[in-house]
Amino acid sequence: MQNLAMAKKLTDGEAIDLKDCKKTKPGEYELTEEQAATIAPQYFHKPGCPFHGLSPWGEAWEKLAESLDEDSCTCGQFRKEGVDLCDSETELWMWSVGIHKESRRVVASSTTRLYQHPDFFCIWLR
Ligand SMILES: [Zn+2]
Repeated sequence: MQNLAMAKKLTDGEAIDLKDCKKTKPGEYELTEEQAATIAPQYFHKPGCPFHGLSPWGEAWEKLAESLDEDSCTCGQFRKEGVDLCDSETELWMWSVGIHKESRRVVASSTTRLYQHPDFFCIWLR
C-alpha cells in the first residue's frame, strides 16, 4: 500500500475498508447497516432511546432525521467519533455517503456527488 496515512488509519481502526463491499458503479460502494451505523451513528440509536427505530429503512425517516435533537438522545450515539472510509485496493478515500430515497440503499462515493444529490439523503461528508 502506497498510502501510509490510509494504512495507519486502517491499522488503528480509524477507517473502514470497503474493498469487499458490493460496487454500485466505479468508485461507489453499497454499505451494510452496521457500516452505516459506524460512520453516521446519529441516525442509528439503541433500544430505550427515543430515537431507537429511527432507521433509514423506516417510514418518513428523512423528516424524522432532520429533526433529530441531540439533547433528547439517551443512548450516546451522538457522542461517538466518526471514522473514515476507503478502498484499500484502489487506495481511494470516500468523500460522501448517501441513502437512496427510493431503494434505501446506503452508498459511499469517492467523490462528493452524494452531497446535495436530489435522489440521496446525505448522511456523511468528509
Ligand atoms: Zn440515541
